[in-house]
Amino acid sequence: MTRELAQPVENLWDASHAAGLDDLGKLAYRSNLLGTDRSVANFGGGNTSTKLVERDHAGREQRVMYVKGSGSDLATITRDGFTGLCLGEIDPLFEREKMSDEDMVAYLALCQTGPTMPRSSIETLLHAFVPFDHVDHTHPDATNMICCAVNGEQLAKDCYGDDAVWIPYIRPGFTLAGQVGEAVRGKAGIKLILLAKHGLVTWGSTHEESYEATIDAINRAVDFVNEHTRDRVPFGGVALAPVGEARRAELLTGGLLALRGEVSQETPKVLQVNTNDAVLEFVCGRESSEVSQIGAACPDHLIHTKVTPMWVDFDPASEGTEELAAKLVEGARRYRDDYRTYFESHPLVDEEMVDPNPRVVLVQGVGMITIGKDLKAAGLSRDLYHRAIEVIRGASGIDEFTSLTEEESYAVEYWPLELYKLSLAPAPSELAGRVALVTGGAGGIGSAVARALTEKGSLVIITDLDENSARSVAEGIGDGARAVAMDVTDEDAVAAGFRDAVLAYGGVDIVVSNAGVASSAPIEDTSLDLWERDHKVLARGYFLVAREAFRAMKHQGSGGSIVFVASKNSLVAGKNAAAYSSAKAAELHLARCLAEEGGAASIRVNTVNPDAVLQGSRIWEGSWREERAQSYGIDPDELEEHYRQRTTLKVNVLPEDIAEAVLHFASETRSAKSTGNILNVDGGVAAAYPR
Ligand code: ZN
Repeated sequence: MTRELAQPVENLWDASHAAGLDDLGKLAYRSNLLGTDRSVANFGGGNTSTKLVERDHAGREQRVMYVKGSGSDLATITRDGFTGLCLGEIDPLFEREKMSDEDMVAYLALCQTGPTMPRSSIETLLHAFVPFDHVDHTHPDATNMICCAVNGEQLAKDCYGDDAVWIPYIRPGFTLAGQVGEAVRGKAGIKLILLAKHGLVTWGSTHEESYEATIDAINRAVDFVNEHTRDRVPFGGVALAPVGEARRAELLTGGLLALRGEVSQETPKVLQVNTNDAVLEFVCGRESSEVSQIGAACPDHLIHTKVTPMWVDFDPASEGTEELAAKLVEGARRYRDDYRTYFESHPLVDEEMVDPNPRVVLVQGVGMITIGKDLKAAGLSRDLYHRAIEVIRGASGIDEFTSLTEEESYAVEYWPLELYKLSLAPAPSELAGRVALVTGGAGGIGSAVARALTEKGSLVIITDLDENSARSVAEGIGDGARAVAMDVTDEDAVAAGFRDAVLAYGGVDIVVSNAGVASSAPIEDTSLDLWERDHKVLARGYFLVAREAFRAMKHQGSGGSIVFVASKNSLVAGKNAAAYSSAKAAELHLARCLAEEGGAASIRVNTVNPDAVLQGSRIWEGSWREERAQSYGIDPDELEEHYRQRTTLKVNVLPEDIAEAVLHFASETRSAKSTGNILNVDGGVAAAYPR
């Protein structure tokens, strides 16, 4: 059975919890409840306010309105996220005829009751002009199904009778605030305002009343939409069945790499795939290619989804990965051209064109891909487009979906006040948007490398034979780290690990080959098994990982950095470690060969040579420690001191020291012009000085 077009929302108000809170606490609580349900208030969208009387710094009583500050999200806002404004100074504005955005922002800044409060929401005056103590403004799915319907005004009458006032679309600002204020003052008994192609305004004389008014308005829309669309099939019925999971993974692995390369030409991008039921229903719908191109479901989505998603006609029954990859690349190019035309034909403001690449890509029969400068941005586009799908589904079920005109969209997308919100975001980190894969990521050096890369903004796939330990390293890092079981000597496992990276984040830019083993034995006691084990992991394993990295990076076409973690022993002939040292030498020479081979594709391959990193190392937990101590004729406890004394600098080498060197080679900003290099991190060992 298909799900209904609109889903009811739950009233979550807990009177006993609220009773213990002061006004500002209640405002934060009310806002968090609204934001908890993303069908009520999407990320960053909507705003809430409270008017109260408080004493100012000089002890005078004054009426103050607290309203959401720019840059917060209702779901997580705390009392510090609200801005206090002196109402005595704002009230007279209601009598004014007009006011420019710049004047309004400058005026409101002077009304703030505290100098360090965030800039108040761009919808502040809308709250101030509603003559009730508590006001909520949200962009709920269900009410927007009516607000974004061609005959929305009539539908609003049918749904709400005289309880609602309909205000035709106008960009938020002074004029809209005045219209809302007049509507509420002008008609006694009205309960809500519907802003065409935008959202909902409700109010109350208590926090609870205001919250309930929002929930009631939404649930009345839910009932109305569902009652009037019982016989409607979403998106005109099913055009094709969605592809199965395995086939989807196969199609997307090649498709994502090609698309990521194409959209990452200026800055690296993270790609996220989403295939929940609602997305699949949409990308398989008969009318979706058309209806998806009408426009945004709310002005608030525009900056994160752009006016329209990129739609890709695809027939999984007759087309394969290569066709999909070609269509994605071609589609992205066309999208950018169209975007440039759109930008250039509306020279309203003196702003620079934002990244012209699509943020949302819909592949018929396959799913949705969202694109962002980092994981958060790609996730935000995904979450907002989920809302868009719901609104489009409901609006086109009950009537016909409509959206902002191109002019209106442009005016919001390049609205200085919207752009200001974006300017609040911190500057991008050094490795933002980059994806790294680290082998042996659960060990001392591997985990330090994974942490160093994520600290600089990279996403990281932590692979290891020991999946549990890899998972705990990933959990320690948090968002943007994934654990994958991988045996580097197993061809299929290596390919699967790279596939995981591509499906999770869209591709791979940095590969740190670090998985290792070690052995120590005089040559006559070195068994064939031992010899082969060392060579299997250190030579064959590094070959398999590098080959897969080359394939992915070349497919992506945006270069990359491969870093081998070898050993001082790759350069120095040590006693009693022939199997290990010769395998390490093979590894080092492989890196140099690949540096030569990768140059034309901007793939850099460099080697970091650690020595005697005992801390956190799994190798040193085994018999290797005993064996090395024995070969030096010392006690195992004396190894640290032994190693320190034999270095030029008289230091021990730590995993973090190796991570720093890996970061140097991983980062384009640090080492874009270095390949085929060796960086020793060994405290200085004369015999290993490269020449
Ligand atoms: Zn709004």
